[in-house]
Amino acid sequence: MARAVIDKIEMTKRLVAFDTTSRNSNLALIDFARDYLDGYGIKSELVFDAGGQKANLYATIGRDDQSGIMLSGHTDVVPVDDQAWHTDPFKIVEQDDRLYGRGSADMKGFIATVLSLVPELTRRKLREPIHLCFSYDEEVGCVGVRTLISVLKDRPNKPRLAIIGEPTVMQVGVGHKGKHSFRCTVHGHEAHSSLTHQGVNAVEVAAELVAKLKEIARRKRDHGPFDPDFQPPYSSVHTGLIQGGTALNIVPRECTFDFEMRQLPGDDVGAVVAELKEFAAKHLLPEMHAVRPETRILIEELTAAPGLSTPIDHEATQLAAALSGSNGTAKVSFATEGGLFQEAGIPTIICGPGSIDQAHKPDEFVALEQMARCEAFLQRLIDRVSVS
Ligand SMILES: [Zn+2]
Repeated sequence: MARAVIDKIEMTKRLVAFDTTSRNSNLALIDFARDYLDGYGIKSELVFDAGGQKANLYATIGRDDQSGIMLSGHTDVVPVDDQAWHTDPFKIVEQDDRLYGRGSADMKGFIATVLSLVPELTRRKLREPIHLCFSYDEEVGCVGVRTLISVLKDRPNKPRLAIIGEPTVMQVGVGHKGKHSFRCTVHGHEAHSSLTHQGVNAVEVAAELVAKLKEIARRKRDHGPFDPDFQPPYSSVHTGLIQGGTALNIVPRECTFDFEMRQLPGDDVGAVVAELKEFAAKHLLPEMHAVRPETRILIEELTAAPGLSTPIDHEATQLAAALSGSNGTAKVSFATEGGLFQEAGIPTIICGPGSIDQAHKPDEFVALEQMARCEAFLQRLIDRVSVS
């Protein structure tokens, strides 16, 4: 494979051109990155999903007898369906010192900048390695990276810290909330609506459970726990989808709703689910079972991403602050793979080009000034870990 020299803007164009919406395979992008790295003599390790249609890429530049620093990003993007784009979302348009395209900010601009510095990284003599970690299915609940973490976590030379390039306008992000989502299914009993006493109304049972969740949400809002660095400063609970019933004159047999909790690091998600189940056991199920013993309430976890909390005085925070040239740190409003890295013993900070304000929206863009700041940040990192 010949060595390709591709600057960060051209690289962003190449990466954005792969439609890696989470529902699609990301293998074309992964193959491209693997071939590019191969051109510089860097071997990639691919960790696939169960179906073999998606993969994480992990590559180490430099010596493998040291733990090193991991630069991490997800390759998938959110859908453009029903969004009013003014340009082709999968074709970068450079305008007004910005690069427009799906994933430009979240977060192919970062991955592109990292890849564009690979020639530099291979020229230098590194004191400790730089690892590249490109994941899949981050946007659907930080799903993909878990298989890679399970491979990494027991390695003697797993990264000593990680930098995730999610868009923070190059501020050093040291924390975010976790996100857990659940599906609740109420199995009631059908009856003619004139005979409500013979049925178990699944919609009504679900409504009482949703109301209980709202009560918990209010309690968290009013009584905390609180962390003023987050917006909002408490754990939020929310029901986003509900479906049940078939006709007004039938007592509905089934109702399903999805709810999520975005919890402050350390707040207990299990306690919320336990409270909901206790409420059901005490106040709902006895009445349901009195009519039909086989009726049930099922609560299943859909996704679980832990929160991130990296201390201000941690060396990962100090390093990122030095590289970014700023003293300030921030807690970000969105979830990342960082909570999972932290759980696996890899301290993590979030710092990347572009703003979350543009992510997931039509006409997503990253400013060239942000790309330049990211390049300077990474250049300083390379200088720091190089012997010469
Ligand atoms: Zn992202």
